[in-house]
Amino acid sequence: MIGILGGTFDPVHFGHLRPALEIREQLQLDEVRLVVSARPPHREPPVASALQRLAMLRAAVQGVDALRVDDREMRRAGPSYSVDTLESLRGALGAEPLALIIGMDAFLGLDTWHEWQRIPTLAHLVVTHRPGWSLQQLGGSSALLQLVSERAVEDTGMLHHSPAGYLVFQPVTQLEISATRIRTLVRARKDIHYLVPEHVHQLIKAQAIYG
Ligand code: ATP
Repeated sequence: MIGILGGTFDPVHFGHLRPALEIREQLQLDEVRLVVSARPPHREPPVASALQRLAMLRAAVQGVDALRVDDREMRRAGPSYSVDTLESLRGALGAEPLALIIGMDAFLGLDTWHEWQRIPTLAHLVVTHRPGWSLQQLGGSSALLQLVSERAVEDTGMLHHSPAGYLVFQPVTQLEISATRIRTLVRARKDIHYLVPEHVHQLIKAQAIYG
């Protein structure tokens, strides 16, 4: 089973990388692919270019075989919809299980994603805890509550026995880091050491990516 963690990665930080690695170990995934959202449809355009974000991601996973960078959204025109990415992976994987990893903040907005109801037909959903976010914040979103009641399981082993369709909530080391905060720190000429891998820090500095 492979895991997919999509993101803007503007820039990639330890709050992405450490949970990705932990999920790989907890769920015994063969690898986790980090997919750069070339043109994220649900938010403001990223500050760094897609090529810069890809370069930072590549620098971040250097020497870590368990994490791979996937640039398929950059090779596709139009908005980067996750459902299209999962469909293309599903085509390549056949019936092999596939897990889409998303943080709790992203999960709470899942029902606004393009064709979101097709996502559980293409992959399992692995929702990771993120500081400041909880399922209680779902409020009145009955569509997502229904998804949870229909698909959530406790036993992660079940994910290995079906290509898609289950949902699990996974605790990971809680790192209160966000890309927005990192960009703000760089603009304010503050030190971002220990929030991002050193190679990423070097790239941000060398190319003055965030000013
Ligand atoms: P921004 O601040 O620009 O919105 P971000 O730090 O939230 O960025 P994204 O690239 O948007 O990063 O996130 C990609 C995925 O990683 C999402 O599923 C998100 O929930 C998850 N994620 C990001 N930061 C963390 C974190 N600190 N802990 C756990 N999950 C995270």
